[in-house]
Amino acid sequence: MGKAILLVCDGLGDRPFAERGGKTPLQVAKKPNWDVLAKEGINGQMDVISPGIVPGSDTAHLALLGYDPFQCYPGRGTFEALGAGIELKEGDIAFRGNFATVAEDGSMRILDRRAGRFGSKALADALNIEINGVEVIVKHTVEHRCAVVFRGEGLSRFVSDVDPHEEGLPPRKCIPTRSEKNAERTARIVNEFVRRSHEILSRHPENEERRRKGVPVANILLLRGAGAHESVEPFQKRFGFKACCIAGASLYKGVAKFLGIPTIDVEGATGNANTNLKAKAESAIEALKTHDFVFIHVKATDNFGHDGDFDGKVRMIERIDAEMISLFREIDAYVVVTADHSTPVSLRRHSADPVPVVICGDGVRTDTVKKFDEFAAASGGLGRLRGRDLIPILSDLMGFYKMFGT
Ligand code: ZN
Ligand code: ZN
Repeated sequence: MGKAILLVCDGLGDRPFAERGGKTPLQVAKKPNWDVLAKEGINGQMDVISPGIVPGSDTAHLALLGYDPFQCYPGRGTFEALGAGIELKEGDIAFRGNFATVAEDGSMRILDRRAGRFGSKALADALNIEINGVEVIVKHTVEHRCAVVFRGEGLSRFVSDVDPHEEGLPPRKCIPTRSEKNAERTARIVNEFVRRSHEILSRHPENEERRRKGVPVANILLLRGAGAHESVEPFQKRFGFKACCIAGASLYKGVAKFLGIPTIDVEGATGNANTNLKAKAESAIEALKTHDFVFIHVKATDNFGHDGDFDGKVRMIERIDAEMISLFREIDAYVVVTADHSTPVSLRRHSADPVPVVICGDGVRTDTVKKFDEFAAASGGLGRLRGRDLIPILSDLMGFYKMFGT
């Protein structure tokens, strides 16, 4: 049976950028190793969810790993909680949490949605409280981010975000998004929690210290992306091979955990631009000794897209080529490289533009594509496929196929 590495570069796809001669970052970047993969492999364009649907990173990863996100998406908070190492129980409701700064003049206007990218374990621990018999579990992950779980009777995931996704406004009231008793009760508890978070954090010693230093205080916790505990058929059961995940950011570890895929921690894998790509690639090659399939995630390409930083995205692509793909050229395994969606520099957000994908390895029908980019991929042998088709195609190449009929 064959083995495989799937490298997903977040938000890698792009649109022609007028200020760079109508080229995309993939077209401008010098990436000799990546282009050899394209030349030796089979290429195509992929609608990760389906044509015209703008993917979130969470739903996109479910699709890339062979699951239908329309059937089994539990809500973002679920992945954040699983990725933070919280064991979810039946009935739990999970959120993504952001420490933020609100004005201390009584207006509650949000001054900084990320509290200067500050958060800490001590602040998170102070928010592990109980409200009307519901236990609230808050776990700090990185910078201003937390996972938040509400545990108790009669809760529902059908409630709105508290985070208004905009500064200058006060936090939004959490409201039920379905008219049901449990959603109403959950919204009331969430609102009470946010109020208490402001009360507790405002007088926390770490914030007193920050006030003295004149840096933004993390004086409220904003919640979004309610998710429930749900279970799906584990990856190995569904596809027949043993997988592992290498990722820095908790969302991706959480998606993996949800599918029963363990994460291998790599020192220096941060989920930021300063991440240690070489260490991730080396760990992946090492992990192939004990696993059939390694999914590796690189986040920073998406961040540069959101920042509108064309040159940053180009540099990141060049680093991925030099520090990761160069190492994958010599290994005896299928190598698949793609993205979870496009994050065009010109838009600074995700778009529905399909992403390029290449599969390189034994027995693939090499096509005429010579370079890895959005335009070259369009003439590849894979044609245009959906994200959910990728793992079945790979399973067949690896020899873990299931025949339909006899
Ligand atoms: Zn993404
Ligand atoms: Zn993004």
